[in-house]
Amino acid sequence: MLLHSIKELREQRKEWKNLKVGLVPTMGALHEGHLSLIKKAKETCDKVVVSVFVNPIQFGPSEDYDKYPRTLDKDLELCNKEGVDIVFAPSPSEMYGEGNRLSNDTLTYVCPPFFYVNKLCGKTRVGHFDGVCTVVLKLFNIVQPDFAFFGQKDAQQVVIVRKMVKDLNVPIEIIQCPIVREESGLALSSRNKYLSEEGKKDALVLSKILNNIKSCYKKGVVDVAALKETAYSFLTDKHDLEYLEILNKDNLEEQKNADDNSIVLIACRVDGVRLIDNTYLKD
Ligand code: AMP
Repeated sequence: MLLHSIKELREQRKEWKNLKVGLVPTMGALHEGHLSLIKKAKETCDKVVVSVFVNPIQFGPSEDYDKYPRTLDKDLELCNKEGVDIVFAPSPSEMYGEGNRLSNDTLTYVCPPFFYVNKLCGKTRVGHFDGVCTVVLKLFNIVQPDFAFFGQKDAQQVVIVRKMVKDLNVPIEIIQCPIVREESGLALSSRNKYLSEEGKKDALVLSKILNNIKSCYKKGVVDVAALKETAYSFLTDKHDLEYLEILNKDNLEEQKNADDNSIVLIACRVDGVRLIDNTYLKD
């Protein structure tokens, strides 16, 4: 069932009083990565809602909000195949009100702590996680799920959403699902659509760097600076590295020495496309 309005969604939700409800928040252009979250939600819950909303307030002024792929008909088909109960696809005005200027001058925002946003993607995408937390909390309030499903692909996002849920006493369990990759190792992403064939090959550098760091760690290298250093032999002038960090996976604290609780995170621009990926050092 496709719903565009909050009112209709709420009416439907009332009928699911004693059922376990799962929410999978997405921006659409669904691929196997999203479908893995939906499958997990179907396994865990009685009813599954997938939201499809390209959230304007999480994009910076020079980012790809306008050109972000919008493929609602295909998304619906995929969701129907997976047995999704509701696809909730509101318009920006349904979410933020007609005529509201989308800024924290006029709207209530949820701002995660500086410690969590002043690093990794938050450093270059200023305000991004305010936009994410705001829309996620709104979706939580609209759908009132028991469980919400997020991908490890956006690892910083999951840590921040978990922190929000804890700090604001949101009665929802956050379930993180593993990264789905192409056979080549490239992590699936809606933004892979922007890559040329050549760019797709160059994009393999992200997973190669992560795998190499992981195998060095397994051989006994723990010094974070030394592990990061190993990346440089993979990078060429086709790669514009934004960050490569090895941090504690739960609280994103810096580490001098990596351990089994470390996560390696990378962001790199390839072919003009900003890509992110990550891996835990211990499987
Ligand atoms: P997006 O539509 O990009 O906002 O993503 C919606 C959800 O799907 C987020 O929780 C992402 O982390 C997750 N996701 C995106 N790509 C992947 C992937 N390759 N594997 C697993 N989850 C993913």
